[in-house]
Amino acid sequence: MNSPQLTRERDLRDSRPLWIDTPRVSVRSSKQPARSSYDVIIVGAGISAALVANALADGNRSILVIDKRSPVKGSSIASTAMIQHEIDVPLHQLQGMIGKPDANRVWQRSARAVMRLNEIVQSLDISCAMKRKKTLYLAGDELGSRALRTEADARNDAGIKASFLDKNSVMAEFGLDRSGAILSDISASANPGQLTAGLLRSTQSRGVEIVSGLEITALKSIGGEVVAATADGRLLSAGNIVFCTGYEFLETLASDKHEIISTWALASKPGIALPDWLNSHIVWEASDPYLYFRTSQDGRLVVGGEDESNENAYQSASKLKSKTETIRRKVSALLRIDIGEPEYRWAAAFGSTSTGLPLIGEVPDMKNVYSVMGFGGNGITFSQIAAEIVSSAVNGGRDPDADLFAF
Ligand SMILES: Cc1cc2nc3c(=O)[nH]c(=O)nc-3n(C[C@H](O)[C@H](O)[C@H](O)COP(=O)(O)OP(=O)(O)OC[C@H]3O[C@@H](n4cnc5c(N)ncnc54)[C@H](O)[C@@H]3O)c2cc1C
Repeated sequence: MNSPQLTRERDLRDSRPLWIDTPRVSVRSSKQPARSSYDVIIVGAGISAALVANALADGNRSILVIDKRSPVKGSSIASTAMIQHEIDVPLHQLQGMIGKPDANRVWQRSARAVMRLNEIVQSLDISCAMKRKKTLYLAGDELGSRALRTEADARNDAGIKASFLDKNSVMAEFGLDRSGAILSDISASANPGQLTAGLLRSTQSRGVEIVSGLEITALKSIGGEVVAATADGRLLSAGNIVFCTGYEFLETLASDKHEIISTWALASKPGIALPDWLNSHIVWEASDPYLYFRTSQDGRLVVGGEDESNENAYQSASKLKSKTETIRRKVSALLRIDIGEPEYRWAAAFGSTSTGLPLIGEVPDMKNVYSVMGFGGNGITFSQIAAEIVSSAVNGGRDPDADLFAF
């Protein structure tokens, strides 16, 4: 129990994301755990923790969710929440990195996770503006139309439906001037604050205890148990402990396979004149830096991008202004409309990996300690995959795809 710092300390986000001002993003929590021993302790109270807790909360198991912040107030509230099966690294490129069978399994698993997340939200009746959408993936400076055609073929070959659109079709159907695009199904968008809070409230009704304002500072596996220390000097033991600490990952997992970068986002005023098709599509592009956008339920355009490979740049006030101006200019030019002065501009830390894959599983040399690092543009989809993998392990089984994401 002698690590100087257990999880990496960050501000996580700067300025005020849109969703903070929406209703139902808070969750009742206690200041202290009610007991000293649990079946499972989940560290963090963002979307990853909410989905892991949801998968494990069977009404019998004792589960503690513990966060040093208030629930839902880490990265999840800053998310633009485009819920996609498309991974940052295109399938045909991932096949070159990890082999065709594994790359196909990853993409297939991602598609199933989006569908499963939709089912969960529906079955629990969570009011979070979750809406099924199609994805339009536009050609850009990284992949032109020929590469997108190859990508669409790779996806169809893997059983993941994707339609290639040429320049004329992109203009005719969407009024966008790009050399090509892939149109695919299996996406959604939601209010990530309401999604996370709704899931956490649902787990509370199944007996999950939520404590906030208390940091886990040290950890040790002893025999079949894990003991965690809190910042106020108490010891908590559990059969399993799951770190869902987002970009404040466990220090022992620091590696050159993943990095923390900076990202920016904005939301327009509601009710601006947007093309009708945007209500049923989310859009991103094969460019670096890339631009991505969606609409919100109250008729705003929510746009993000301009990622920078610097873990602190999101804290700069001048960059907040210049990066969001660039985003505004780019999206206005693409859609050929002036989206006006944004009502919200925010910046945040963001995690990426070289393969675009999340890191999920048991922490090396720490029995019964798991970590969920859903790094990448579809982090929410990865949180659902993590919930499935971790719950299988805690239940004594092994998810057939666990090897794809293991540390
Ligand atoms: C601007 C932006 C846009 C994004 N857009 C998308 C998108 O469109 N689609 C998508 O799928 N994903 C997107 N993502 C990624 C997605 O939002 C993240 O993957 C997801 O929110 C991470 O959730 P989490 O629960 O893992 O982390 P968090 O929400 O950050 O929760 C982790 C929690 O752990 C707590 N914690 C950390 N250390 C400790 C400790 N030692 N003790 C106690 N508590 C601790 C923190 O306080 C924090 O609340 C975006 C992210 C950002 C920032």
